[in-house]
Amino acid sequence: MSSDPDILIVGAGAAGLSAAVQLARAGMQVSILEGRDRIGGRIFTKTDPVCNAPVELGAEFIHGCPPEIWDLLRRHKIPAQELEGETWCYREGALGQCDFFSEVDELLEKMDDRSPDQSFSEFLQKCCSGAEVNSKLLEAREWARSYVTGFHAADPDLISVHSLVKGTRADEGIDGDRAFRIRGGYAALIEVFRRQVHDVGAGIQLNTAVRNVRWGPGVVEMTCDYANGPITVRAPRILLTLPLAVLQQGNVRFSPALPAEKLDALKKLEMGKVTRITLRFRERFWEHLPSSRSDKTLSKLGFLLSHEEWFPTWWTTLPEKLPLITGWAPFRHAEQLAGQSESFITDKALEALSRLFTLSKKDLEAQLEAACWHDWQKDPFALGAYSYVNVGGDGAQETLAMPIEDSLFFAGEATDFSGHHGTVHGAIASGARAVKEILNQPGREKA
Ligand SMILES: Cc1cc2nc3c(=O)[nH]c(=O)nc-3n(C[C@H](O)[C@H](O)[C@H](O)COP(=O)(O)OP(=O)(O)OC[C@H]3O[C@@H](n4cnc5c(N)ncnc54)[C@H](O)[C@@H]3O)c2cc1C
Repeated sequence: MSSDPDILIVGAGAAGLSAAVQLARAGMQVSILEGRDRIGGRIFTKTDPVCNAPVELGAEFIHGCPPEIWDLLRRHKIPAQELEGETWCYREGALGQCDFFSEVDELLEKMDDRSPDQSFSEFLQKCCSGAEVNSKLLEAREWARSYVTGFHAADPDLISVHSLVKGTRADEGIDGDRAFRIRGGYAALIEVFRRQVHDVGAGIQLNTAVRNVRWGPGVVEMTCDYANGPITVRAPRILLTLPLAVLQQGNVRFSPALPAEKLDALKKLEMGKVTRITLRFRERFWEHLPSSRSDKTLSKLGFLLSHEEWFPTWWTTLPEKLPLITGWAPFRHAEQLAGQSESFITDKALEALSRLFTLSKKDLEAQLEAACWHDWQKDPFALGAYSYVNVGGDGAQETLAMPIEDSLFFAGEATDFSGHHGTVHGAIASGARAVKEILNQPGREKA
């Protein structure tokens, strides 16, 4: 790096890239340091060579209509498609269309943030005990638990009901029960950011993993691992967009240490875990499979929900009819898959599918052409999937987001406190919030 920039951004994910563009447009000299050999962070799109279609290893869906994403898609004429297809469930040894959503919704609507915070498990225990308990309610409770575990990648014993209520309200504001896919995959959004970063003259230095941050008023010095050995970089201020678990596990050391309230906030947040795998088969064989509960086939299968041990949730690519199917293993399912080999994970995915579809694993193996996955739990630049709030963690995201001495600024999905954490649009929004804080610094000359 030739001269010290006005700001160094750590991390070239959605938060860091979008913030870099806005800061450079405001007249600042910006450089991004990225530990990986690619940009995008937890957005990681591959292309399936046979289907010539995107395969996501990280984020896949746009949840609702958040302006942070849709404004960019419209401006850059990038098409997105709403998800289609039926939702099927595996219950009592058979597949059928799910008919319990109204009970699950009714149950989730009972969550409130006026009473003291509690974990989702406690909420389920209290709301579904006593006289009103019947088998339908107990079943709805189990599906509600799977939904919260699956969607938030969270431990139901830890996740805060207050945060779930906040998230539900935030989703209501953006039509959050709809879901979309970007035609070329999330890579298309990252490509927009890459071009914008280039056009505004901001630099990105890949393969540069920050290890130590020495900070004080008006100056920050960072030591980074770089190809030919450690390097030191300096700027008057930095914007950290590190994933929650990277901050929590001390992979980046601060000198002096971060203030006690920041460390306390880190303890009140949790990194959710997910393993996902996309399998390509010779054909969409499930299309012809009959339901054991009706005379329908699985030809319009969108989502498949189950309580399977390894991969409980699956989805197809509808409305695109591709021979790809994705398995989703959240929380404890992901924990037992972390660090395992690709062949182990593929094997467990096939085992799950063979039970769900009542087909022999041998037949599935014979049809399987390719498998694509990424171990986010072991990835040192992520150490998990996305964040959630622990019971009693009200305000922790705000504290994590707070700048320190006009030198250290914080963005990234875990610092979003509007209820959109854990998403791409939440990450972009956090970048925009940090940009405002940086540009509003008293005494900042350049802007
Ligand atoms: C499997 C999976 C599925 C998901 N599905 C969805 C979905 O469908 N929809 C949705 O909206 N969201 C989804 N998400 C969440 C979404 O991907 C994230 O919330 C979002 O991409 C986070 O962006 P970010 O910029 O905050 O963090 P990141 O993208 O993680 O960016 C942080 C950057 O910092 C870099 N970094 C880390 N440590 C260092 C270091 N020491 N030095 C330098 N650089 C470092 C990282 O390499 C990374 O590039 C999913 C995530 C996962 C993992």
